[in-house]
Amino acid sequence: MNKSRPSSIYGPVDSWRLGKSLGVDVLCVDSICSFECVYCQLGKINRVTLDRDIFVTTEEILEDLAETNWKDADVITFSGSGEPTLAANLGDVISKLKTKTGKPIVILTNSTLLNLPEVRSELSMADKVFCKLDAWSDDVLRRVDRPHVGIDLESIVEGICLLRDEVDGFLAIQTMLLRAPCESDIQAFADLLNRIGPDEIQLNTPTRPIPPEYFPETRGNEVEYDQGFTQLKTISKTELESIRLAVSRLVGCTVVAR
Ligand code: SF4
Repeated sequence: MNKSRPSSIYGPVDSWRLGKSLGVDVLCVDSICSFECVYCQLGKINRVTLDRDIFVTTEEILEDLAETNWKDADVITFSGSGEPTLAANLGDVISKLKTKTGKPIVILTNSTLLNLPEVRSELSMADKVFCKLDAWSDDVLRRVDRPHVGIDLESIVEGICLLRDEVDGFLAIQTMLLRAPCESDIQAFADLLNRIGPDEIQLNTPTRPIPPEYFPETRGNEVEYDQGFTQLKTISKTELESIRLAVSRLVGCTVVAR
């Protein structure tokens, strides 16, 4: 096994949405993403890219799996050290883990590569896909998610819509809220959500402190937080619940908040 990187398998960790979730990190040689979200719990994205590549081989991931208590997991979740769809072997890994474990597969994506037909085809093998959508304007997208050049809100929404049209599995939208949107922003957000037609909308606030550098231990939820970590100021639970109710009134699916 390559000892110069953390294991590509972590947990199982307790997830409020999924139960006992075994994490798969197809990127763990570094933090690698097409966003640099201001709230990213990884600390720092060292490689901001849109280029797909193989970072950890499928064989290495299966070797890592064999060293874990994967049988204790309710579900296998792809998230980890950045954007999982950047891994060119994502489809191969999903297929092998499905065959090996028989567990449901969940993918957390930031939605930036969904315009690629091969990415949508790979995601069609998952049981659930959670698509990040943090913005209702390009200005919010730039301030909150700080995307790789060339990514705009329309390309993200279009990609999610294509996935929605092509894939039968459960599709949720995950939105991280740092500030309370005004009434017209909530309407603009609801218009995007109605265009997509997800099965569920999950509203979150950033609760985890941010390390100063890439810190792979933050992939799970059992980190010892340090004094060098930053805690973002965000909206209260009461404000979050008001936003949840306002969005619920405008969309035709379940909206949950946490
Ligand atoms: S999309 Fe996820 S991994 Fe990428 S920067 Fe944002 S929070 Fe971090």
